[in-house]
Formats: sequence, structure tokens, C-alpha cells
Amino acid sequence: MLNLKDIRITDEFWQAEQELVRQEVIPYQWEALNDRVPGASPSFAIHNFLAAKALRERSHAPGFRAPVFTQVPFEVLPEDPEHPDPDRFYGFLFQDTDLYKWIEAVAYSLTRHPDAQLQATADEAVRLIEEAQAEDGYLDTYYILNGRNRSFTNLRDNHELYCFGHLTEAAVAYHQATGNTALLGVAERFAACIARQIGPEDGKKHGYPGHEIAEMALVRLYQEPGKQEYLELSRYFINQRGQQPHYFEQEGHTPLSFERPEELYSYHQAHKPVREQEEAKGHAVRAMYLYSGMADIARLTGDESLKAACRRLFASVTREKMYITGGVGSTNIGEAFTFPFDLPNDMAYAESCAAIGLCFFARRMLQLEPKSEYADVMERALYNNVLSGMALDGKSFFYVNPLEVWPEATHRDARKVHVKSVRQKWFGCACCPPNIARLLGSLGAYAFTEGERTLYAHLYMSSELSWSAAGQEVRISTRVCRDDPSLWRVCFRFSAEQADFTLALRIPGWCGSWKLSGAEGAACAEKDGYLLLHRVWQGEQEITLELTAPVRFLRADTRVRENAGKIAVMHGPFVCCLEEKDNGKDLHLLSVSRQTRPEDAAFEEITVAGRRASALLLPGLREPAVTDRGLYYDAASAREAPEPVTLRLIPYFMWANRGENEMQVWIRQR
Ligand SMILES: [Zn+2]
Repeated sequence: MLNLKDIRITDEFWQAEQELVRQEVIPYQWEALNDRVPGASPSFAIHNFLAAKALRERSHAPGFRAPVFTQVPFEVLPEDPEHPDPDRFYGFLFQDTDLYKWIEAVAYSLTRHPDAQLQATADEAVRLIEEAQAEDGYLDTYYILNGRNRSFTNLRDNHELYCFGHLTEAAVAYHQATGNTALLGVAERFAACIARQIGPEDGKKHGYPGHEIAEMALVRLYQEPGKQEYLELSRYFINQRGQQPHYFEQEGHTPLSFERPEELYSYHQAHKPVREQEEAKGHAVRAMYLYSGMADIARLTGDESLKAACRRLFASVTREKMYITGGVGSTNIGEAFTFPFDLPNDMAYAESCAAIGLCFFARRMLQLEPKSEYADVMERALYNNVLSGMALDGKSFFYVNPLEVWPEATHRDARKVHVKSVRQKWFGCACCPPNIARLLGSLGAYAFTEGERTLYAHLYMSSELSWSAAGQEVRISTRVCRDDPSLWRVCFRFSAEQADFTLALRIPGWCGSWKLSGAEGAACAEKDGYLLLHRVWQGEQEITLELTAPVRFLRADTRVRENAGKIAVMHGPFVCCLEEKDNGKDLHLLSVSRQTRPEDAAFEEITVAGRRASALLLPGLREPAVTDRGLYYDAASAREAPEPVTLRLIPYFMWANRGENEMQVWIRQR
């Protein structure tokens, strides 16, 4: 993987997002982790580490008795919210991960923007984590404070390995950013503690994580200090998953209750060995994290059967179960996938974390085999579902990202209680906000990847990159001009003494046509959606790629019942939506005539919450409201012609930034 230190994003659009993370999200989240945000659910993350540290200090005192786990719920709330007990654990059993994700986001931010004060705060948090870690390397404050006698006794539900995964991701990122090895040491000691308990050897538990992430985190750890054992543990978790006898049964806990018994193991992607899995199933975030780990292991070990499983699962997700926004997970029940082509717009779950996980998976597929279809998916998720997860001021967040919202229904219909029409400041289960922060912070690693003497440019954003092509240094300055939203002009300037390599430029799926200039003298080929330019790059050279980004009307496969007879409007990677603010109430009465063509749309520069963007003006129709003829009335009497109106569509990621209102992506065509 390219070192993030070598890539600087200078793009106006993306820099604005990264600056939000740096200036708003990171300081805000630090306050949230410390329970200092008025009106927001307390996190208790720092509280729990402080309590674990105090417990460790007391453990050497004479007469000390370690806590013994009896009955503790997954989420513990203080009896008196004003006065939480300083020695007790509060929050969800995976609360530790909020702090880890914050540190990871800080690491990426420090890479771009050194900040001594922020680093000192993060160093202090790292010290606290070190001090809370048990002497044998164990680290999960839920069990440390509630009783270690239950640790590793319920891999299905415990989330200890999930906490370990986020700890490790943070540790590697923080080490790479700052050179600080303390957190890496914590992660390695916890990894060693886990490896003493779980593994193929007799006497160890033959289990694997109920909530995946350790698989890909262990790969990052393996790549850092170069220790084979971490790769092996990751591979063990992947290979062991779904094997018989079923480990989650062997643990002997009460089976989880599901309406449909077949979900008992598929919820955790443990219904079959991973190489036999054909369809993406279960909890969507867990699935994305597992598949990401599988793709890592397939690449590093050259495992063909695992590669084939990754391809199948990627296809299952993206050809049958993905929203046009890159959202995945159609139901709030189990935050899960349902069945192929079941993509309800107003009941969608489409968790921000799941779209982030899809970006992780897609990037790893690109590393496995660079094909532009993976980058298309990554870009779709990033520009739409992921960005929609955060307000344009960086101060509030969506967990769920629906494609259609009628605020009244979200308030009055219990089935839609998961759908919010305004972003929340913080969540008790705050997985999404810090996940958005860490993805946006490490964007450079998604824009480019490297192959054998090949540099792949997947996402087009202005940036500065230093890269070594087999020891030959090259600097690549990328400028993306989108002044005309229907044309992306990407200019690459190379500076090298002499560097012999291939530049692979993605031709996005949304591009109408492309034109390359300045590449004379390079050997040109097209493969898997990439334009391959091979030459010896010498001195200063410049090439320009022009991509047309026409307005497009998209239809859904007719098996997506929700969207029959409807279109979605896109330009470039942006999915557009209607908002009540621009189009009045009752968006369901709006439609587009079948005679209207994408070419009839006009761009309009708009500013939402201080951010400039391109809206689209499109000739549309508004059905007259009929409210005086009874609940049902003779269709023959409905003679009123629809009224011509101009629809204004904004990029989906910008919705819900101007107060509570209706929103809709798919529009009826009549
Ligand atoms: Zn989440």
C-alpha cells in the first residue's frame, strides 16, 4: 500500500471534507468521548478506560478481589445519569472502539497537518490505553470491569476481537503517522494474548470473531512489523469461519433469536465456510469487514479459491443488493442484507459504516485485480452514501441513509423509527461518525494503489504524490478541474529523473467519452476499464485526460419492485435527489415526462451550508392534489392535467442540510 505520507490531497472538494474532519469532527468527537457534549448521549469511552486503569492500580493492593461477571447487559447505562459510578463500565460492550477510531482519524489528520497539541492529546489517550491494558495483554474494558472470567467465552457476541481489530487499525495508523510505537505495543500484546487462547492447536479455542474486523486488522499488523504469525491468525479466523462442528454452537450459549431460523449463522456470515458462500448475507457491516479481510488474505497468499469467493460475494453485493447510492443493508432488523433486489427506499438501512466497509472491500478487490468495476463501486459509495453520513458542517451524522424520506412517517411509524430525517449529534452506538472520519482521512490510499511497476489512478481528485517505481522516484501532481460539471479535466504533471513504469488511468463507468492528450510516445493499451500508459518518464511531462460526465437517467433492474417506472438522475459519480426545500411538499406527486431527455437538464450553481455544488434543473410535472373526493374515487373523474414545473435536484450527499424536509431519489416517469 502507498504510504499516506506520500500523498497529499489538494482537491477543493475533498480538502473541504478533510478539513471538516480536522477542524470539526476530531475536536467534537474528543469532547463526545469525554462526555462533554451537552444534549448528546454520553459515550463513556474515556470513563471506561479510566476505570480500567484505576482497577489495575488497585489490583496490587492487599485484599483486592477481581470483579466477577454475573449478568451484565450489552449496553449498560448509569442508574443516575448525572452521577455515573467512576468504577463501573457504561455504554455498549464495544465502546472502546470509539476511542480507537478517533485515534486512527487523528493519525491520518496528523499525517496531513502536523498539530503538536492534538498529538499531545492523542499521546495522552494512548498512555491511558496502555495503563488500562491488563498485565497479560488483555484489553477490553467491558470485561476488565465486569469480570474477566467471561473473556473469550462467547466469541459470537463478545466483541473482544472487534475491539482488538479497531485497536490494531489505530495502532498501525498512529505509528505510521507519528512514529509512536506505544499503541502498536499494546496491540501486539493483545494479539499475543488472543493467540494464546485461540488457534488451531489442541487446548485452544477453535473460534473466530462474531463481529469481523480482526481479519483485516491483523493483515495491517503483519505488514507493519513483518511478523508472519499475525497473517496466520487472520488466515485462521477466515478458514475456520462456518466450519463444522459449528464453533458458535460449541460455545453453548443460548441461540440468538431470529424470525427466520436460517439467519442463525448467516447473521455472522458463519453459515458456511467462506469459500462456499455465494450470496452476501447477514449484518452488512460485518459482511463487508469479513470480505475485506478475505480479499487481503487472498492477495497475500495467492489463494485462488478465496479469490473466487471474493469475486462472487462482490458480485452478489453490487449486482443484487446495493442501492444506487452505494448503500448496503436493506433492513434494520439485524442491520442486514435481505434477498436479491429487495431495496426499499424509505425503509433502507444503508448504514454509513456499511458503505465505508464497501469502500474497504472494493479497494482490496482493486489490489487483488485492478478492474474498474471495483473502483466504480468504491466511488459510488464514497460520493453518495458515505458523504451523506456527515452534515456539511461536520457537526451531525446519519447512521441510516434512506433514499426517500417523509419526515412525518419517520416520527409516527414505528417501522421507520430507524430512519431519521435530521442528522443526530452523536449516538450511544457511535460507530459511524468516527468511521467516516477515518475513511476521509485516508482517502489518498483509495485514490491510488500500486501494482508491479504500475501506478493505478482510481479516483480523480487533485493531489500531490511521491512514488517510487522500483527505486526510481517520481512526483505526480494531479489537477482536476470541474468548473463545467459535465466535463472532468484531469491533468497529471510528472517529474522524474528517469522512471520506467505504467500509469493506469481508470475510465469511470459514468464517463460518456474520453480524450487523452500529451501521451505521445507512451505505449497505450486498454484493459479492464483502465487506460495503461507505459513509457520511461523523464524530466517534466504532462498529460491530460478529459472525461465527459453527462447527466444520466438511470433505471433499476425491474426486479427492484420499488423502482419500477422510476428514474434516478446522476451526473458523474453524483446521485441526485429532490428535496422539499427546492420543490415544495409532496415530492411523491412529482414526475418526469418520458419525453424529457437528460440533455434537457441544466446545471445551476448552488450553495448549501457554505458549500458550492452543482444542482440540476429539469423539466418536470406535478400531479394536482386531490383531497376532496373521498379516500377512493372514480379514476375517470381524475381529469386534471399535471402542472409543468421545474424540478431542482441536488447531490444526494447534500440533503438534510437546510432543516427537516422531504427527500426522494427515485422519480416517477410518466
Ligand atoms: Zn455505523
